[in-house]
Amino acid sequence: MTLTESGPSSTTSGSAGSSLDLGPAAALACRACGHRLALAAEFACPQCFGPLEVAYEFGRVTREQIERGPKSLWRYKDLLPVPSTVEAHPNMDPGFTRLVKADRLGAELGFRNLWVKDDTGNPTHSFKDRVVAVALAAARELGFRVLACPSTGNLANATAAAAARAGWDSVVLIPSSLERAKVIMTAVYETSLLAVDGTYDDVNRLATELAFEQEDWAFVNVNVRPYYAEGSKSLGYEIAEQLGWRIPAQTVVPVASGSQLTKIDKAYGELVSLGLVDGAEWRISGAQAAGCSPVSTAFAEGTDVVRPQKPDTIARSLAIGNPADGPYVLDAVRRTGGTVTDVTDDEVRDAMRLLARTEGIFAETAGGVTVANARKQLEAGTLDPDADTVLLITGDGLKTLDAIEGQVGPTATVPATSAAVREALGISS
Ligand SMILES: *Cc1c(COP(=O)(O)O)cnc(C)c1O
Ligand SMILES: [Zn+2]
Repeated sequence: MTLTESGPSSTTSGSAGSSLDLGPAAALACRACGHRLALAAEFACPQCFGPLEVAYEFGRVTREQIERGPKSLWRYKDLLPVPSTVEAHPNMDPGFTRLVKADRLGAELGFRNLWVKDDTGNPTHSFKDRVVAVALAAARELGFRVLACPSTGNLANATAAAAARAGWDSVVLIPSSLERAKVIMTAVYETSLLAVDGTYDDVNRLATELAFEQEDWAFVNVNVRPYYAEGSKSLGYEIAEQLGWRIPAQTVVPVASGSQLTKIDKAYGELVSLGLVDGAEWRISGAQAAGCSPVSTAFAEGTDVVRPQKPDTIARSLAIGNPADGPYVLDAVRRTGGTVTDVTDDEVRDAMRLLARTEGIFAETAGGVTVANARKQLEAGTLDPDADTVLLITGDGLKTLDAIEGQVGPTATVPATSAAVREALGISS
């Protein structure tokens, strides 16, 4: 395969800014110092190296206009940094996944008004299809033709699949220790898949280096990260729309890099300022695994400084020891009256099984992290049992079978006779 044909037209900042169609996106703005620059494939502030974020000039957006849109995240295209023609391109149509009222899970945990946002229903079975769809749409407009990423697994699946469907080449870098299912679910799309000896943080560093050398590769979460990250806003929009244009009082979000949590908070804020929901107060809480808890540790210590950790947890999709958005998670959580906590791997396994048993939803380890932390925060009194609460279930259990393989299995193995079945189930004949 050829990975170098035409490079992006707009990596030299600003040159192509005015001719780009990235919908309501108006500029890139530095989250640290506020410096603004024209839309381009840039991710670090030229003044202070702080992270860049998309800034918007929204037109008039109404509920009716959104409700008439497709049943995918493209119904929110007027709120995302994507071309106004985005639906015309081959895409994966992720999003508009179900919001499930979870009364049985709620009763077990002690929540009286609980919902589960079930993102296992996306094309490659995790929320990463959302961010990749937005990254691909923006990258196409920015002139790229190769999609790339460093990944803890789910992003690898989503990137390889989206590139395959769009007819793009892709390059995917993963830590060599990744779960078997996530390797197969990436390799099947015949991407260039490189298993790297090292942790995710090593892989991420390598990708950042390559992003400077291979100017025609759109690393979804590196050089086009400002656009990619905005894809997570669709979760916040959907939750509010599916609740009848209402922001839930409490949202519990798993934290890896922290991007998703900060963008759900951003989406809620935009819905209020655009007048799409009535004024509301919300609390956002973060969920981590004890074996990779840099953000919950900083939260508990009351500091803004997120110290990197070496991950060791079954929740590998969340195993980012040096989370790029850590400080912004702390800000959003503290500002909204939430907390960030962490749970053990055993608690994660138990919570995966609890969610399956009560709601018929089989989540990957990250879902177990969310459910277990929601329980912990409720018990600690930092979540209100009566308030409307939404738990983010971000990935499918088929991706992490290894995590509970030894714990579940047939009730019994029996000969093919009805007597044997009755005996195994303790039914007297
Ligand atoms: C990537 C991922 C997350 C967290 O995303 P961040 O935005 O990096 O915090 C949560 N759940 C799953 C299943 C993921 O793959
Ligand atoms: Zn700056």
